[in-house]
Amino acid sequence: MTLKLRIAIIGQSNFASDVLEIFLERSNIEIVGVFTIPDKGNREDILATTAKAHQIPVFKFASWRRKGIAIPEVLEQYASVGANLNVLPYCSQFIPMEVIDGAALGSICYHPSILPRHRGASAISWTLIEGDEVAGFSIFWADDGLDTGPLLLTRQTNLEPTDTLDTIYKRFLYPEGVKAMGVAVDLVAKGEAYKITQTEVGATYDPAMFKIENQVINLGQTAVRIWNFIRGLDSVPGAIATVVLNTGDEVVEEQVRLFGAHLYSAGPVSNAQPLRLKGLSKPALVHEGGLLIEGTDGAFVNVRRLKRGSKVIAASDWFKQANQEPIKDFTEDELSKKHALASIWQAILKDSIEPSTDFFAAGAGSMDVVRLVEEVKETFDVPLENEHVFMAPVFEEFFDQLVRILRQGSSSTGGNRKQVPFKGFLLNANKREIQVPTQLFVNGEFVDAEGGRTLDIINPTDEKILAKVACASAADVDKAVQAAHKAFYGAWKQVSARQRGQLMLKLADLMEQHKEELATIESVDSGAVYTLALKTHIGMSIDAWRYFAGWCDKIQGNTIPVNPARPNNVLTFTRKEPIGVCGLVTPWNYPLMMLSWKMAACIAAGNTCLIKPAQTCPLTALKFAELAVLAGFPPGVINVLPGKGSDAGQAVADHHLVRKLGFTGSTPIGKHIMKSCADSNLKKCSLELGGKSPLIIFADCDLDKAVKHGMSSVFFNKGENCIAAGRLFIEDRVHDEFVRRVVKDLRSMTIGDPLNRSTAHGPQNHKAHYDKLIEFCQRGVEEGATLVYGGGPVPNLKGYFFTPTVFTNVEDDMFIAQEESFGPIMIISKFNASDVDSVMHRANRTEYGLASGVFTKDISKALSFADRIEAGTVFVNVYNKTDVAAPFGGFKQSGYGKDLGQEALNEYLKTKCVTIEY
Ligand code: NAP
Repeated sequence: MTLKLRIAIIGQSNFASDVLEIFLERSNIEIVGVFTIPDKGNREDILATTAKAHQIPVFKFASWRRKGIAIPEVLEQYASVGANLNVLPYCSQFIPMEVIDGAALGSICYHPSILPRHRGASAISWTLIEGDEVAGFSIFWADDGLDTGPLLLTRQTNLEPTDTLDTIYKRFLYPEGVKAMGVAVDLVAKGEAYKITQTEVGATYDPAMFKIENQVINLGQTAVRIWNFIRGLDSVPGAIATVVLNTGDEVVEEQVRLFGAHLYSAGPVSNAQPLRLKGLSKPALVHEGGLLIEGTDGAFVNVRRLKRGSKVIAASDWFKQANQEPIKDFTEDELSKKHALASIWQAILKDSIEPSTDFFAAGAGSMDVVRLVEEVKETFDVPLENEHVFMAPVFEEFFDQLVRILRQGSSSTGGNRKQVPFKGFLLNANKREIQVPTQLFVNGEFVDAEGGRTLDIINPTDEKILAKVACASAADVDKAVQAAHKAFYGAWKQVSARQRGQLMLKLADLMEQHKEELATIESVDSGAVYTLALKTHIGMSIDAWRYFAGWCDKIQGNTIPVNPARPNNVLTFTRKEPIGVCGLVTPWNYPLMMLSWKMAACIAAGNTCLIKPAQTCPLTALKFAELAVLAGFPPGVINVLPGKGSDAGQAVADHHLVRKLGFTGSTPIGKHIMKSCADSNLKKCSLELGGKSPLIIFADCDLDKAVKHGMSSVFFNKGENCIAAGRLFIEDRVHDEFVRRVVKDLRSMTIGDPLNRSTAHGPQNHKAHYDKLIEFCQRGVEEGATLVYGGGPVPNLKGYFFTPTVFTNVEDDMFIAQEESFGPIMIISKFNASDVDSVMHRANRTEYGLASGVFTKDISKALSFADRIEAGTVFVNVYNKTDVAAPFGGFKQSGYGKDLGQEALNEYLKTKCVTIEY
């Protein structure tokens, strides 16, 4: 038979409230009254609120006794509800025996330890402090002692090395405790509840940890005992240690609380700074991962967080003086968010919110932290952790922190980030005034290079020095790599894949807003014709960021049907993971576009990076860095280091923390770099190298189109185009006509200032390259090729202007037929269509294999060409038609690995294979 229970709940907090809710699910239970603590300010205990919602009478007593004697009015009110069972789920008050014995069936009480061990108010803490192997709880019959009554039931769980006071409570003591209270009352109702007398063997009564003197850690113990003490008080109230600071004339002591401890066995730490703690014979060490404390046994405990005053900081930041300046330039949107945030705080704290309101001082507990974090995440779409509340418990600071996270681009409406200061120069060009940074961009800041080294940046149009730009050394590269490494394992990991995509989109939008500025800089710095710079150099850069932004949250692995290990099953799946810190080294022909092709894929895959742009034209990369800050990329994710290849570039290839090198440049340097990648740390590398791309024009083509595309295949971007057609094979029947038309068009080509909208051909990128082209043509003439047009500098023009050039009658073994010019030089040979095999053979007789092209109206010829040509890119009846979605990269000595398209992502990912037997 089941008894009808008339229960009085005496207690408080979420735990008691949840116990009440599960009792309400039982038809044999009537909750006749709830007895709880008085309101704190306007804040009512949740048990009272829940009871009222179910129309249960609520009584709030400040105390049940006066001078040790039960208060008669209180007893009277208790008696008025007529309970036959008292349930004390979590009760901080002293309940008189008149009440304990006042219900016919008695009083049952929840206690968070396996009694008789750890009697007293701080049982959970002591379970950890004493290094118990199991934790648990007891439900016992209250008597006149302290946690001494007979046991009704106990439950236990193994303690994990990662457990803290918070985790055991949340994962076991709370949820299982609530359920067990239901089981206990069911046993009572059925008359089956045990009453097992507690033994005194193994009984302890432990000191209360709410007394501040008991919270002070004894550091003269083994590492395990130090660790257990810290986690036993984590996160409330936190173990207290005293830092001893020697300020020169005086010794100052500062109390701190320690959180996030673990035993440390990762070996020596680098760049550590000593910090004296009272009671510790050797100084503790502040390092990148926290604060290392050595126990008396020589083993170490690492502490990740410290509470100074009301603020929790990363222990690694102890010596960082530069406390962040509070934000002053809130946008209207941000200020409206402040109201919404205040409403959330108000709903939780049930009190008006001032800028100085301290979440915890206002009475919030750990469940309130969870609620705050969830509500803020939901309302503002930001990644927030409980830690953020502990780190900024005061409203004003919390709001400041929220805005910083929002400005890092988490939500679609994220505000604008503040511009970082930089030294630069004012570029007055194209009817614009453009501020251009001239410093290295490392860890989110513009900084001078070590020793103030600089590079002269020359305008190829007038040969004048445009600016002096910082020139990175190997030491500067190391700083950037360390920052990228820290960001990869820190701030960048906190940014979800979708948020990463949003940041990239925001950056692309900023590039679009500044595209005229970027194109102007590119034009002045690299000699690119402005209209082309706008459309291709910058346009395709923006496209690349948008295209790869879309990939961020679509990077997926596979599930793979492997052989099961009978009788068990096996599940195998792959994960695609970012590689880590990536080094990018790029050439000068499309400065921003080469950066974007590589970096957009690298960042989309979740890596952090540093780029060494070509020394001759790094300006758009630096302007880009400024925009990356505005977009909200966390410091260290993107670093830009202008410098010399032999120095900074080599340091990137050699660095042990760089795990992938994305390189675009010449074949000889590519080979050298590959060796460095192997010798240093066997880093993965992808190489986009030189080319000598063949273009075959059959007589059956659309000749107008063939001439137009044939010209752009060579002269596009002044021939400084890696896929430029390095050799044209023209069928003998149209050869002369083709040459005639090309020369005619060249005669009317406008050459001059690249910023002029009518200009079709600007100066070559830099002097060494320009000189190399002059030499290249001299070599062609010497070897007996026919120079039909050009062959040298544009007469009467200052700057590196080189006349577009045409050679015919070029033999296969001539230097100009074999080597890449990387300039506006068309190399033409004839062929006879009766022997297509021969021309295919000649087209493939090169160590390069970057691109190729064919013009014919015969689909069979075109497809046969596409089958047989040894090149990574094939154009049919078109040339230079690249797209950010199409993979781009060469064969043979043109390198390997792709830029662009989905394949480029794989260059910046590694595959992990996971196998599970079940
Ligand atoms: P490069 O001389 O090979 O230089 C490329 C980059 O590598 C530059 O940033 C250069 O720094 C750096 N570098 C030089 N030595 C280095 C070293 N020891 N370690 C690390 N980095 C080093 O090529 P480039 O003359 O700038 O560019 C032209 C070449 O790039 C052509 O061959 C062209 O075909 C090729 N390219 C290929 C593609 C493609 O996708 N396949 C695209 C564009 C260009 P400095 O600035 O100090 O020289």
